[in-house]
Amino acid sequence: MALIVHKYGGTSMGSPERIRNVAKRVAKWARAGHQMIVVPSAMSGETNRLLELAKLLSPEQSTAELRRELDMIASTGEQVSVGLLAIALQAEGMPAVSYAGWQVPIATDVAYTKARIQSIEDGRVRSELAAGKVVVITGFQGVDPQGNVTTLGRGGSDTSAVAIAAAMKADECLIYTDVDGVYTTDPRIVPEARRLKTITFEEMLEMASLGSKVLQIRSVEFAGKYKVPLRVLSSFEDTGEGTLITYEEDEKMEQAIISGIAFSRDEAKITVTGVPDRPGIAYAILGPIADANVDVDMIIQNASVDGITDFSFTVHRNDFQKAMDISRKIQAHIGARDIVGDSHVCKVSMVGVGMRSHVGIASQMFRTLAEEGINIQMISTSEIKISVVVDEKYMELAVRVLHKAFGLESEPV
Ligand code: ADP
Ligand code: ASP
Ligand code: MG
Repeated sequence: MALIVHKYGGTSMGSPERIRNVAKRVAKWARAGHQMIVVPSAMSGETNRLLELAKLLSPEQSTAELRRELDMIASTGEQVSVGLLAIALQAEGMPAVSYAGWQVPIATDVAYTKARIQSIEDGRVRSELAAGKVVVITGFQGVDPQGNVTTLGRGGSDTSAVAIAAAMKADECLIYTDVDGVYTTDPRIVPEARRLKTITFEEMLEMASLGSKVLQIRSVEFAGKYKVPLRVLSSFEDTGEGTLITYEEDEKMEQAIISGIAFSRDEAKITVTGVPDRPGIAYAILGPIADANVDVDMIIQNASVDGITDFSFTVHRNDFQKAMDISRKIQAHIGARDIVGDSHVCKVSMVGVGMRSHVGIASQMFRTLAEEGINIQMISTSEIKISVVVDEKYMELAVRVLHKAFGLESEPV
């Protein structure tokens, strides 16, 4: 007998019929003798609908008071899902009980709309399991030290499932979604994309942080920290091995140099031109941006000519206006010539641990983009990834030509 955690995403929970299918699969696993914990998301579209409703009443989203209410609202989607799934399981003749995050409890910090899980109590869940019940726990939500409901950021049910699996020392955490595994890139953009049988934890972490929404980044961080056996599979198929996240690299000696391509539309670029090149300038620009809680991703400062340089950085598109306003205030203060902003950029990244031992990947990437007339605006590299910022109108084209140029549609030899 094993302890298993299943997570079902919004599409998999999208209708009563689909919820019934989820219940049937879970009941089958339980009847096979496993202890089952299920973590469902809100029904597809529901979180968006709830947040849109809130926006109708207040477009402003920056105060903690408002974010507290947003979490109160958004968390209800998952609460409906757990109740429905528990009922569907009971209708299958399978004893089941639903839990909201605060009932478990799943303790988080107070960062409304992007809270982090701090600890999970296992007592109540274990006694329900011991009583022979399937335990259905809300994804996406938790409770802060004052008892306020919090949410974990969009896509956060992945993190709930992996964190619960870690806390319960589950034998396996299976993420059921609307694709049958992790692909070389989003199969909705490149139909030739290939499912990966395995992906290293490190690569998955990069893919998630660079925009592949198949797993929320924090779920991958948890999986790595606690070595949770993690697999991504389709909720619409009963067979199929999906993609296993692995924690050892040696079994992948023969792997491809590039494992996947990730992309993100949520980018915006700001350039401060004509900046005097003197100590403290980077801090003068980025300090106030950080103080306003805006995360900066890529940063580029040119070599100066005659003591004057340009300074560019990227932020999440949602923070663009805020970052522009702050930059304009700084402009006069530091004596810069101008502030130029562009919120129509995107980031395309190639990821692979095999890059470590191969040179020339970057130049092949740049040549491929040049041949399509795609201008690269910014570049950033690490040991296992290369990212470029390009005009968003070229995003899909860039992903397609790179996928083809690196032969990702076929198995590595
Ligand atoms: P869920 O609602 O089940 O959490 P998501 O929509 O959050 O599902 O994530 C699954 C989606 O992620 C897929 O439908 C696919 O379009 C997208 N995706 C992006 N990159 C990849 C990738 N490399 N492999 C598989 N799916 C990907
Ligand atoms: N329902 C939440 C969202 O739409 C969490 C999730 O689906 O993982 O972001
Ligand atoms: Mg998701």
